[in-house]
Amino acid sequence: MKLVSRYTDIAEQFAIADKPSPVGEPSLLLFNDAVAKQLSIDVASEQQAGVFSGNQLISNIAPVALGYSGHQFGHFSPRLGDGRAHLLGAVADQQGLLWDIQLKGSGATPFSRGGDGRCAIGPAIREYIMSEAMHALGVPTTRCLAVVATGETVYRQPPQRGAIVTRVASSHIRVGSFQYLATQGDVAGLKALADLAIERHYPHIQATGSERYLAFLSNVIEKQIELVVSWMRVGFIHGVMNTDNTLISGETIDYGPCAMMNHFDFETVFSSIDRQGRYAFGNQPNIANWNCARLAESLMPLISEDDEQAIALLNPLINSFAEQFNYAFTQMWAEKLGLDGNQDSDSELVAQLLALLKDQKLDYTNTFDAITESLQGNAEIPTTLIPWSKLWLQRTNSKSYEIMRKNNPKLIPRNHIIENILNDFVQSGQSATLSEYLKALQQPYQEQAIKTRYTEAKDDAHYKTFCGT
Ligand code: AMP
Ligand code: MG
Repeated sequence: MKLVSRYTDIAEQFAIADKPSPVGEPSLLLFNDAVAKQLSIDVASEQQAGVFSGNQLISNIAPVALGYSGHQFGHFSPRLGDGRAHLLGAVADQQGLLWDIQLKGSGATPFSRGGDGRCAIGPAIREYIMSEAMHALGVPTTRCLAVVATGETVYRQPPQRGAIVTRVASSHIRVGSFQYLATQGDVAGLKALADLAIERHYPHIQATGSERYLAFLSNVIEKQIELVVSWMRVGFIHGVMNTDNTLISGETIDYGPCAMMNHFDFETVFSSIDRQGRYAFGNQPNIANWNCARLAESLMPLISEDDEQAIALLNPLINSFAEQFNYAFTQMWAEKLGLDGNQDSDSELVAQLLALLKDQKLDYTNTFDAITESLQGNAEIPTTLIPWSKLWLQRTNSKSYEIMRKNNPKLIPRNHIIENILNDFVQSGQSATLSEYLKALQQPYQEQAIKTRYTEAKDDAHYKTFCGT
């Protein structure tokens, strides 16, 4: 495994050399062969537990913990950083693209703020299942290469087995990374970070000077819109869209309190700490917009020495978010419903359907699947939607089924199934159903014989997810 690029030349406090703390008895729980193949990762199987727990450092590895700030639920913390993660470096795939390899749960770092630097087995397995499911659903996401059990207990309520996740991301540059350097007034560091982010994610940007960083912001906005639209297409609620959990690449990161929506409601919230509904299903676009505004603020010194001028140049980009989002969102519904072209009345058609779904407490995934399959005579539209469907049918054509099939999953990672699997791991350190479930989740748009066991919706009205565990 040849590792390069550890962010050490951005700024002194940006990437701090720090080693994982060895664990008692590492054992490999999960290994992602597809990701290993894509990245040509050739760690011999007998070494995987050692390497992916951080116990064994391959000679070319010089791990770092990255610094970043973050607005958490709107409140700014200038110094968060990798409090329980070590970045080993980046590997190049066959196309030469770099992928960061990070251990999460690998012990305390200079950013731990009193935390134990560890991760419990439940959240580690949850991150693996969710990120693999999201990848298969076509949602941009970080992925997991491995999960290793540490053989140690982590002291949570109640105590749990410990685990370490090996996370793969096209980079770990966050909105909070820019906030971190901006807060320190480190303009040279900001510029180096923006140039690195452009090189890694937006290499087509050729402009120089302020135009370069304005183009960068536009590109990040576009990616954030794509991300949130794809979350909403499949019913994903991130749950903790803080600026430190917002990647510049537009990949989903941090599967802490995330959950999938069952019956349709824009106000759905599962996170136990999100009492105001800040990160509710339907508020995700507003928050992505807000997070982009925080990035824009951090970029001000790269735009102009004169704050007013910088704001005048950045503001139109931030203000364009809503219109761009609405366009992409309208397109998303048109694809979910296989609509033929665009008509003014389509927004009313969508609004009527969503109101019915909400009032009737209909399952988002299963209902869109049934609407899709009704075109082929394979499923019946719920009775209460039949009057609506007469209008909808007039807007479909011979291509509708194919488009709808690509956009409406049959299988999503259901909260209650994941909870059962996690409980098994918490109790016994293993699960009899996980490998079958992971395999099923790899083909979310296809009819599968075993799927009925996994598609049943459950009333999750009292389901709660927890953060930072
Ligand atoms: P998260 O909720 O995972 O996004 O974490 C938010 C911040 O808290 C990040 O700076 C993490 O590194 C830090 N953090 C979360 N859990 C721990 C822990 N067990 N020990 C140290 N730092 C932690
Ligand atoms: Mg985080």
